[in-house]
Amino acid sequence: MRELAAYACHPESSRGRRYTEQAPAGRNAFQRDRDRIVHCSAFRRLEYKTQVFLNHEGDLFRTRLTHSIEVAQIARSLARNLAVHEDLVEAIALAHDLGHTPFGHAGQDELNACLRERVPLAGGFEHNLQSLRVVDELEERYAAFNGLNLCFETREGILKHCSMSHARVLGDVGERFVNRTQASLEAQLTNLADEIAYNNHDIDDGLRSGLITVDQLLHLEIFSAHYAQVHSRYPNVEQKRLVAEVIRAMINTLVRDLTDTTMARIRQYGPGSVDEVRTCPPLAAFSDALRVQADALKKFLLVNLYRHYQVLRMMNKARRIVRELFVAFLEDPRLLADEYRREDPVAQARVIADYIAGMTDRYAIREHAGLYRMES
Ligand code: MG
Repeated sequence: MRELAAYACHPESSRGRRYTEQAPAGRNAFQRDRDRIVHCSAFRRLEYKTQVFLNHEGDLFRTRLTHSIEVAQIARSLARNLAVHEDLVEAIALAHDLGHTPFGHAGQDELNACLRERVPLAGGFEHNLQSLRVVDELEERYAAFNGLNLCFETREGILKHCSMSHARVLGDVGERFVNRTQASLEAQLTNLADEIAYNNHDIDDGLRSGLITVDQLLHLEIFSAHYAQVHSRYPNVEQKRLVAEVIRAMINTLVRDLTDTTMARIRQYGPGSVDEVRTCPPLAAFSDALRVQADALKKFLLVNLYRHYQVLRMMNKARRIVRELFVAFLEDPRLLADEYRREDPVAQARVIADYIAGMTDRYAIREHAGLYRMES
């Protein structure tokens, strides 16, 4: 790793862990966080959770696990370019989606709606907050504490957004939402690495599934410009390789633009420490021109892929499964194994939400069949 910039997060001056532990031997504190995340059970379950396409719809589509690995790869490149901590961005990237429900955003929206309708005092469901809850509370791997006891800097990066009502009761990691300050540069960059990853891999998966076409994408400036470059260089190349080259080139352009724009902003504001980064305006950014193109791409994917009728049909089924699981357990908690039973109704609702959120797609489908279908 190259020498860290003054504005990077330095593991030796971390704000620390919730439970004091001895510094690790032979690795730094952020490396230890990354290693703890890779070994936790929520991380393994990402393999069977939907990104856009349901896990069982095809073997070639991204899952939450491969998405998280792509985010980590892009974030590491960015961190190296900008001399901030590579292990920290990797830890944040690998943990950022740990709180996702089965069936992607549809599952999360339905679980949130169920909680808000049926148990308003439980405060709803937010996947970013759930990712933090997984690493702070839900993992049961250590004798001395719940969760993974990660460093403040990793936890700060995992909590990308949260509502003000939650921020006020979260303590240290909630403060920036109340004070309207920023997270570390490592957290900001990983957030944008997430966006680079999903926009590009959703084009790839969207084309592979046949739900979107190259002709549609050619109306987008960011796609058509790179397509023209690749096509003029390799005029006879087959479509599959052409698309892969275009996506590769787009990711490179986005990473380069983000690096250069962020570096210019760092020079402009001159933060001398991570605490100064936190009080600057957001430093990690695309150039205005590329931001416009990336937003057009996001909008295209929303309209043409995420709202494609075939995707919506699947998501409709997914919503029903999540709702029916929640209702069955809430109305009769005796259907839950003893470890998931609570006396207090709000605590009970939260445990049901944690249980459902932790399910993989296929486990949720099986559990639903077990509750609602006599032959199962
Ligand atoms: Mg993500």
